[in-house]
Amino acid sequence: MYCKHCRQVMDNDFCPDCRKATRMPEADDICFLAERGHPWSDILCDVLKQEGIPFLRQSNLGHGLMSMIGQGLELESIYVNWKDWERAVDVAAGLFSEDVEILWDEEDELQE
Ligand SMILES: [Zn+2]
Repeated sequence: MYCKHCRQVMDNDFCPDCRKATRMPEADDICFLAERGHPWSDILCDVLKQEGIPFLRQSNLGHGLMSMIGQGLELESIYVNWKDWERAVDVAAGLFSEDVEILWDEEDELQE
């Protein structure tokens, strides 16, 4: 089920956050995927890009504030379309479940 107010996917018939009724998600619904700080938000977005999953990122800070306290405290919320959501969750889980070193794909830099 999906809360269009919070953009969260959940099992509940009512959203625990805003207490509104949830509904079945539709393909183009924007669904919350993860909230991450730097550098993980960048890495996640890179991987989503590689997987061909369109995403939306939203900072929790305004730009003025960000320059005052630096990027360290910034969190970004990443959203994807419902039709890509399960795939994106897999991608994110693979990324964040292991403390592996990210091996950068050098072909990336050659593409430009
Ligand atoms: Zn809600």
